[in-house]
Amino acid sequence: MPVYDSVAFSFDSAEEIEAAFRGSKAGHVYSRITNPTLEHFENQMRTVSGALGSMAFSTGMAALSNLLVAIAGQGENIITTRKIFGNTYSLFAETLTDLGIEFRFADFSRTETIEPLIDVNTRAIFFETITNPQMEVADTRKLATIARKHHLLLLADTTLTPPYLFRSKEFGVDVEMISSTKFISGGATALGGVILDNGTYDWAKNRKVAPFARKFGPFALMAKLRKEVARNLGATLSAHNAWLQSLGLETFTLRVDQACRNTQAIAQWLEAQPKVRSVNYPGLKSSHFYEVSQQQFGKRPGAVLTFDLESKEQCFEMINGLQLIRKATNINDNKSLILHPASTIFCEYDAATLKSLDVRETTIRLAVGIEERQDLINDLASAFQQI
Ligand SMILES: *Cc1c(COP(=O)(O)O)cnc(C)c1O
Repeated sequence: MPVYDSVAFSFDSAEEIEAAFRGSKAGHVYSRITNPTLEHFENQMRTVSGALGSMAFSTGMAALSNLLVAIAGQGENIITTRKIFGNTYSLFAETLTDLGIEFRFADFSRTETIEPLIDVNTRAIFFETITNPQMEVADTRKLATIARKHHLLLLADTTLTPPYLFRSKEFGVDVEMISSTKFISGGATALGGVILDNGTYDWAKNRKVAPFARKFGPFALMAKLRKEVARNLGATLSAHNAWLQSLGLETFTLRVDQACRNTQAIAQWLEAQPKVRSVNYPGLKSSHFYEVSQQQFGKRPGAVLTFDLESKEQCFEMINGLQLIRKATNINDNKSLILHPASTIFCEYDAATLKSLDVRETTIRLAVGIEERQDLINDLASAFQQI
């Protein structure tokens, strides 16, 4: 697919440009709204996921903020958990709270904490398929049962387990949001985000999307985004980045398979190391979430794990002893990346908040890449020898 790096598209006649604006004839008018390369990537995402509709954005955060602004407004509320991506938490607790959307926090590992929070103004339940760095896995079918009973949308951030790792529709998710910056981009060359609508929710039941349901039926959310919210907020994925993500998709399954196999092997190897106090990965039998992870993700419960050492100092020494594994944030890159979450991603949080989020001073996060497995293990082993 060529990269259409052009903002506007010309037409042969006034009648044709009128038809394109009115939507009676398909055509690209202006790249903030649609672009051939962007559309190609969106169609690929729809095909690989089996979703009804798909829309790409400039970042994962852009996809998420557009989605929430589209489905909820002042006086309405969304049920979620505090164990979510840090910027997502800030988007909810600060930016969208300021706009009048309320967020109610439950504990998704105890689903009985959800129903008492639901009232007539609740619009959705939002969760992440694997929380990071806690590595908790919500039982999606249980969440879906609660959502169905109360006619709520079930929204999932599936960044750690995008399509191929997790068939979100089969487990009752209505709308999926992915940071394609991660597994889909692959080489960490482009930011991007995607919204996938599985076509399972009756949009007439959502106050904000309902006006579009009359005309667009199951495509109402996509119409609401394309004809209003996304067009007006303007966080469009550039043609160049759409092209990079599209290239990423060509090798997606190969990379994911290798990264997940590496993660499983490294998690098991770490468990046997005398200096490691514990390893947290849903693919380990010792994980609290092993059973539900097997049901939902099979052999591919993502490529992020954490492990605990004796102290923060020991974590730093271990990280500093690595040669191959890079010290960087980001996850699901082709390259393995390591960091100490408490002193980096969570450095603005006080001790009480860290405790409530289960973020410990003794924890290291490893996002495993696609390198040769033995090279990674050798690197880890030599770092352990130095502490
Ligand atoms: C990275 C990430 C995001 C945000 O995506 P960006 O593309 O960086 O905006 C959201 N959710 C999760 C789980 C992520 O890992």
